[in-house]
Amino acid sequence: MAASGEPCRPGRGEAAAVVVVGSCMTDLVSLAHRLPKTGETIHGHKFFIGFGGKGANQCVQAARLGAKTSLVCKIPHDLLKCFLLLNIKKLTAQEGHVGVKGSDWSDPEALLSIQVEGMAQVGKDSFGNNYIENLKQNDISTEFAYQTKDAATGTASIIVNNEVKTLFNPAPAIADLDPQFYTLSDVFCCNESEAEILTGLTVGSPADAGKAALMLMGRGCQVVIVTLGAGGCVMLSQTEPTPKHIPTETVKAVDTTGAGDSFVGALAFYLAYYPHLSLEEMLKRSNFIAAVSVQAAGTQSSYPYRKDLPIHLF
Ligand code: ADP
Repeated sequence: MAASGEPCRPGRGEAAAVVVVGSCMTDLVSLAHRLPKTGETIHGHKFFIGFGGKGANQCVQAARLGAKTSLVCKIPHDLLKCFLLLNIKKLTAQEGHVGVKGSDWSDPEALLSIQVEGMAQVGKDSFGNNYIENLKQNDISTEFAYQTKDAATGTASIIVNNEVKTLFNPAPAIADLDPQFYTLSDVFCCNESEAEILTGLTVGSPADAGKAALMLMGRGCQVVIVTLGAGGCVMLSQTEPTPKHIPTETVKAVDTTGAGDSFVGALAFYLAYYPHLSLEEMLKRSNFIAAVSVQAAGTQSSYPYRKDLPIHLF
């Protein structure tokens, strides 16, 4: 246990097959007829609190499909590179203090035990308590979702295993993304606007997405996927270097918030549990699941459970 943080552990059984490194956010959603001007107070007609954050969203979708998942909240940028480099199979908590100490990032052996700075993403307050409860209710391991009163720090050590694929979702995108993120990702998955920021190209069609994907693959990615909202997605890989468009279902979209996270969570599930499927088949199924999510309001509240999905997806 960290000196000033307290890990929440529902259990410490077998390792998670899907480990998501990313954020938890509490969404405070007000519905109003218009946006207020600066300093103005206006009447809203509905308010609700939801669970969001891209990392948690993706983890929830994978868990609802039946994946054994673990969420690692908040992690320094440099350490994220390590996760990509190492391909995590198992994380175990360990006593320690703040800081990334004595690690040679280019030497995997030296990275087997790393002390992690800033693991405490979830505060010791009602939002944090609720969030931890939400993760548990979704059967997600919170072993590394530390709660703290004072932004104190937890620690983790990493045990290397090369079977768990690394799926990288560059959101929010930045134009000067560190080149190592391309080379260290097994699967690099972004949406249209992220592809535009990363490449400088306009991405408004499957053909455009294919051009952007080619450019991203030129930076060293093994597999590139660009999602296109109602247009489905485009895939490209080193082994199949011609862009391929995978259309999705035609549905009546109610709320597309978090559709990309549903898609990425579903893809992580298939990579972990159905590795024998072709990439195209995984993407068809992920499209299907994300298309289900857009037919209901909210983010995690719209994500389907395995029991509610057609059997042919599993
Ligand atoms: P983001 O939420 O990151 O902007 P997208 O809008 O590209 O991501 O959506 C991700 C995936 O969700 C798409 O590839 C598709 O499978 C599904 N999706 C999104 N919007 C729709 C829609 N209107 N109809 C059907 N599927 C959708």
